Amino acid sequence: MKITDELDRQSYCGVWTVSEFTGGALDPVSLELLGAAEKLAAERGQEVWTVALGSGIAGMADRLFACGADKVILIDDPRLRAFNDELECNILERLIKKHRPEIVLCAATARGRALAPRIASKIHAGLTADCTGLSIDPVNGDLLQTRPAFGGNVMATIRSSDCRPQMATVRPKIMPAPEPRPGRRGEVIREEIEAVDALNVKEILSTVERREPTVNLGDARIIVAGGRAMKGPDGFKMLEAFANQIGGAVGASRPAVDNGWIAYPHQIGQTGATVQTDLYIACGISGQIQHLIGMQACKTIIAIDIDDTTPMMKLADIAVKGDLFKIVPRLMEELKNR
Ligand SMILES: Cc1cc2nc3c(=O)[nH]c(=O)nc-3n(C[C@H](O)[C@H](O)[C@H](O)COP(=O)(O)OP(=O)(O)OC[C@H]3O[C@@H](n4cnc5c(N)ncnc54)[C@H](O)[C@@H]3O)c2cc1C
Repeated sequence: MKITDELDRQSYCGVWTVSEFTGGALDPVSLELLGAAEKLAAERGQEVWTVALGSGIAGMADRLFACGADKVILIDDPRLRAFNDELECNILERLIKKHRPEIVLCAATARGRALAPRIASKIHAGLTADCTGLSIDPVNGDLLQTRPAFGGNVMATIRSSDCRPQMATVRPKIMPAPEPRPGRRGEVIREEIEAVDALNVKEILSTVERREPTVNLGDARIIVAGGRAMKGPDGFKMLEAFANQIGGAVGASRPAVDNGWIAYPHQIGQTGATVQTDLYIACGISGQIQHLIGMQACKTIIAIDIDDTTPMMKLADIAVKGDLFKIVPRLMEELKNR
């Protein structure tokens, strides 16, 4: 909503997150949002509120409090079992207009990406999509929203000074989830779906689960990723065997996917998955910014490359210079012997 004067600006208060639930379970990205919100709220001297919309989720509030929420606006209703963008958008629009938060953060997931632009356009708020960094301008308190722009070649910092709330979607796996503080308490604000929320929204009669072989890179603790240097599908078979040996999953750079050597769900980077594994082994990946965006938060990075000047080799905790087709089989042999 457009700010009319300073008094109007000051009437917006609080940092909100929109929590996500899958099958009644809290999605980990919701905790990452709370971690980011808590830092921003501390700088603004405000509270963190989270909106929890779902079915069978009433017991989740304690976890949200433990991870930084001061208040949870809860709507626990069977009509929210399956995600209905129109219904949730109407509810959030009503709640935002009622409570006037200063900042609203959604996850840059399929759900958050469906909701945030709809809400922003309804309430005439600014929205920055896919943020990888958030901070507060120390001069005027605006939210500074950083995200890759121009194909990832520059990082742009965006603000929306004239509108409130300031809205952003946040890339999963970029911001760390806070350590839970058991016993931390907050307030649950129970709301209901109002007639106006459900007006003219589509009704979901049934949902069908799509069953396809998928890879869930988000849950992997170890990833062995291959790039253009893999030369073809056979190279990825070798990486798959290596990943299986060490209990990991296989990731890929975009050229490997574009060449059809491995399926898209394995792609890591700006236009693929974002991962935050304990161990990331990059095999023949040069580490262009569009790839690094998706994996730079991994705890330990090992890079194998014939060229030791690449960004990935510089970023790596352990950089191994050499031909991956010699090094990977040697490593596998060594591990087998142990
Ligand atoms: C809008 C946009 C979005 C993009 N999104 C993504 C994305 O999501 N993910 C992504 O990965 N990229 C993305 N890209 C592409 C990105 O810019 C790079 O082109 C890409 O990441 C490079 O992939 P690579 O490192 O596998 O290939 P290269 O840059 O070609 O690197 C190959 C590396 O392998 C090494 N090598 C060669 N042979 C061997 C060997 N035998 N042993 C060891 N090392 C060897 C080379 O020295 C080199 O360092 C995007 C680009 C654009 C413009």
